Amino acid sequence: MKITNVRARTFEWKGKTVPPTPHFCSNAMDELYDKGDSMGSFRFHGWTIVEIETDDGIVGLGNVALAPRIAKQIIDLYLAPLIIGQDPFDYEYLWQRMYRNTHAWGRKGIGMAAISAIDIAIWDIMGKAVNKPVFKLLGGRTKEKIPVYASKLYKTDLDEMQREAQSYLDQGFTMFKMRFGYGPKDGVKGVQENLKSVEAVREVVGYENDLMLECYMGWNLEYAKRMLPKLEKFEPRWLEEPVLADDIDGYAELNQLTSIPISGGEHEFTSYGFKHLLDKKAVSVIQYDTNRVGGITAARKVNALAEAYSVPVIPHAGQMHNYHLTMSTLASPIAEYFPVHDVEIGNELFYYIFKGDPEPQNGFIDLDDNLPGLGLELSDEYLDDFNIIE
Ligand SMILES: [Mg+2]
Repeated sequence: MKITNVRARTFEWKGKTVPPTPHFCSNAMDELYDKGDSMGSFRFHGWTIVEIETDDGIVGLGNVALAPRIAKQIIDLYLAPLIIGQDPFDYEYLWQRMYRNTHAWGRKGIGMAAISAIDIAIWDIMGKAVNKPVFKLLGGRTKEKIPVYASKLYKTDLDEMQREAQSYLDQGFTMFKMRFGYGPKDGVKGVQENLKSVEAVREVVGYENDLMLECYMGWNLEYAKRMLPKLEKFEPRWLEEPVLADDIDGYAELNQLTSIPISGGEHEFTSYGFKHLLDKKAVSVIQYDTNRVGGITAARKVNALAEAYSVPVIPHAGQMHNYHLTMSTLASPIAEYFPVHDVEIGNELFYYIFKGDPEPQNGFIDLDDNLPGLGLELSDEYLDDFNIIE
């Protein structure tokens, strides 16, 4: 089998958008004096979709959500010529070809995200070629179903957060992730507001369910050291990305500071990046996203490392490329699930572009043993709401 064509298209949402409330999530821009639209770095209103065609008519689907227009350029100009004419089953060779060829500039960030999209499409092709779901190529079923946690609960007023938490409970979820609204520049009042929001959500979900806390890199080390002891009594399952992704020593210090496990890695790349995090004991939960970390080929190497270090892997975002790895990896106990809703941050755009993502039932999702590849198709339902760049 040979790859004959690579088509990368950027889908930019131009449909209705729900404006996020102020302070809906702390983020890395918060510490600057001219915040401007500080949430801009948090929103993803475009995706690049890759379709890889083969000479026997199979089309593999991959995707990348970081800086999608640039990802498309990288795929068109640099990556497509490296894989056209090649056998997709030589996936390790192709990954190394892309990684080494772009090494001067592509190792982390958008270069690796673009490689990820290609690699995901290659795995989709392999599954379709042998008529098996991708997870059956990765180790098969390691769990009956995948327990998923409801991941939204942006900071709004507390009544609204409590209503939202209750709605997830009513749907059968037993695990929830909420966002902090405030960081270092918001002073003692912000500290109090952060604590109040956790207390409010705990009041609804109780202590018999799991609650995860998300900072999205909006704190700094000093602030996190003040906050962690105050958060211990709320027994969070983890505290996510308290500081910038580059501050690995900061993660390591915080991870030893209290009983609260520190999680991270949705902005880390390849097995080299994760080896560094693991060697430093910087995270107690690994959260790569397959469409950033280097695709399925890189993610399975991170999974092997994580197993050896006894650190669980709970990928960022649900979505099929992550679910197939979670299903086939014993070191991945649960998965994230972004509820389907009106377009707000952009994570939910996945559901507007693709169809086939499984719907949770009582807090679990399942994958079909008989659906080949990733089990995704492009949806034509919302095409008019996208500006599509060929
Ligand atoms: Mg996160």
